[in-house]
Amino acid sequence: MTINAPAQTVLSSYAQGKWQAPDAPENIAQVLDANTGELITQVSSDGIDTAGMVDYARTVGQRSLGELTTHERALKLKELAQYLNGRKEELYKVSFRTGATQRDHYIDTDGGISTLFVFSSKGRREMPNSNVIIDGKTEVLSRDGSFLGTHIYQRIPGVAVQINAFNFPVWGFLEKFSPSFIAGVPTIVKPATSTGYVTEAVVRMMLESGILPEGSLQLLSGSARDLLDHLDYRDHVAFTGSLSTANTLRSHDSVLNGGVRFTAEADSLNAAILGPDATEGTEEFDAFVKAVFVEMTTKTGQKCTAIRRVIVPESIKEPFITALSTRLTDKVSVGASDAEGSTMGPLASKEQQQDVAKATRQLIDAGGKLRLGGPDQIDQYDASGAFFPATILEFDDADTHAVHNVEAFGPVTSVIGYDGTPAEAVRLAALGGGSLVATVASDDEAYVAETTLGISAHHGRLHVLNRDTAKTSTGHGSPMPHLVHGGPGRAGGGEELGGVRAVKHYMQRSSLQGSPDMLTAITGVWHQGAKANTVTRQMVDDGAGEHPFRKSLETLRIGDQFASELRTVTLDDILDFAEETGDKFYAHTDEEAAMANPFFPRRVAHGYLLVSWAAGLFVDAAPGPVLANYGLENLSFITPVTYDDAIRVTLTAKQITPRVTDEYGEVRWDAVLHNQNDEIVATYDVLTLVTKTWPEQYA
Ligand code: NDP
Repeated sequence: MTINAPAQTVLSSYAQGKWQAPDAPENIAQVLDANTGELITQVSSDGIDTAGMVDYARTVGQRSLGELTTHERALKLKELAQYLNGRKEELYKVSFRTGATQRDHYIDTDGGISTLFVFSSKGRREMPNSNVIIDGKTEVLSRDGSFLGTHIYQRIPGVAVQINAFNFPVWGFLEKFSPSFIAGVPTIVKPATSTGYVTEAVVRMMLESGILPEGSLQLLSGSARDLLDHLDYRDHVAFTGSLSTANTLRSHDSVLNGGVRFTAEADSLNAAILGPDATEGTEEFDAFVKAVFVEMTTKTGQKCTAIRRVIVPESIKEPFITALSTRLTDKVSVGASDAEGSTMGPLASKEQQQDVAKATRQLIDAGGKLRLGGPDQIDQYDASGAFFPATILEFDDADTHAVHNVEAFGPVTSVIGYDGTPAEAVRLAALGGGSLVATVASDDEAYVAETTLGISAHHGRLHVLNRDTAKTSTGHGSPMPHLVHGGPGRAGGGEELGGVRAVKHYMQRSSLQGSPDMLTAITGVWHQGAKANTVTRQMVDDGAGEHPFRKSLETLRIGDQFASELRTVTLDDILDFAEETGDKFYAHTDEEAAMANPFFPRRVAHGYLLVSWAAGLFVDAAPGPVLANYGLENLSFITPVTYDDAIRVTLTAKQITPRVTDEYGEVRWDAVLHNQNDEIVATYDVLTLVTKTWPEQYA
């Protein structure tokens, strides 16, 4: 709705480092309390300099975020999460006005904060502490190894614009902010007008925390106006909302011709499928009823992931509808979101109430039989609020077009029957034209495997429910920060979350070709064939070189290398190792059998013997800055070693990652074992923890 209103009552934007009220606004939307209809605030973005915001993000925001490393930014997310945790009661208070109940706040507010925590932890554990990330293995492109290829990720040089839906004003913002912030890309968030005052409250808190680097976050309250006009291929737009708006934005000139990276998460008619084994009385049946109940009532059904289509075997349809209806009747009490005893609040606005009523009537007109609730019951509630009853529609014809195409974005679900075969379940689920998520509930592994694999290409996420997960599942409708969220087709074709995958959505992957030295200089990671600072045992003993294990992170450099002498393997060594470890596999102990094996010339040394010996060959035994060996990665045995062969090891500091919060860091060492003929025997990475200084901190 558009009215003229005094500017001082209008929600502010945070643009170019300042809170700004709209200038002489002409277009102002009134935002009302979903429970009472009282005016909360008015919203307009008129006069806010959107071009200036984009420029500020690309300059000030990019610069300040670029001064930090991945781990430093990830750590800031944790600090933000801790800060917001301390103020979440304030956020709950504001959010009640959107119609969200306390249970809903746990999903939106607490869910948003926990997303910050998860990304902080994943960013520090799974990403290097660097602004260049190597993707995959090095490719050797010339015979002599002088020309290599690899892939690198670097942040995009623009701004991450979020255009969000009304239903998750906190989580919807923070789930997009977390990965873009770790990537080092500044954000402009444009929340939905109807609940943007909650996002404004979170943004205000985040700024008050003093944790955010300058320019890393801006807020546009109100219409997006001409924001997209100022974007180009350097920028990213992540949209959540209706399919029609997604399509409008997707055909914007900046996306079509300007190259803006665009991802959408739109309408989705998510299915829940019950297997034929899950008859009344089974744990799967009960868990399924509960799952549908939760999805209908949480956030009053205003979740992009809610279950809109329930697909149950014809023979279980009636018991299912009865059980669901009984549960809803017994447990749902519709009322003001903060009222004692109320378990389901209103929809977010009167407009939303009208939209849901309209869509439900469309479904009824298409053949839906009302088994519970329905739009005519709206009259029984306080007319000032946007209340809507839990509504079940039953369809006789499972192919009814509306069931698979009309989304009533509220506490409404359609139930259809099928013949219990995976093929039919898959066919019906696919009529949704691409969805965010589907649940398959059954304890029959063959049925679950066939159905799940059949629908997987139509869905972004698959949730399998049976007696083993009934109590532990995080739920059909909860996207997890660790796992991908999004879906093909109608669901928007986008992808969010998924741990570090989401961070990479805000980065450009480039392939890089050059010499080992150049690739090392560019990436900061030592590449095979690059120059090395080599020391031998003799040099160490003579005082002519320092063993890399004597160096703390202060002095250790990538390319620091230790090259061991050769050590000969005898038959007794192999047999003793077999005896001691109990690994008497025939290739080590039975000459005839070993020779009959196509891979071995005769009895060979155990791979683990060689790796153990390699440690003995490269180690510097005295107490020093190396604190621990915490693993080996990418171990491959290439050439077998038989008795009378000899091995040597070359160990090179490959990657050094100081930890932001600790007095030590991680050092990845490139280890290569050769035999006496200079053939490669084995390759792997040794992972160690090394102190930042030595010996001062222990003195
Ligand atoms: P909209 O698509 O209308 O709005 C989503 C966001 O897009 C809002 O921030 C909105 O801003 C903004 N927007 C709308 N038009 C434009 C435009 N031309 N240029 C730039 N931004 C624009 O969805 P609603 O939130 O109104 O919900 C409508 C329906 O969408 C729901 O009933 C439901 O079917 C579906 N939906 C899907 C969700 C999902 O997660 N997949 C979530 C929520 C809704 P403003 O609010 O200022 O108009």
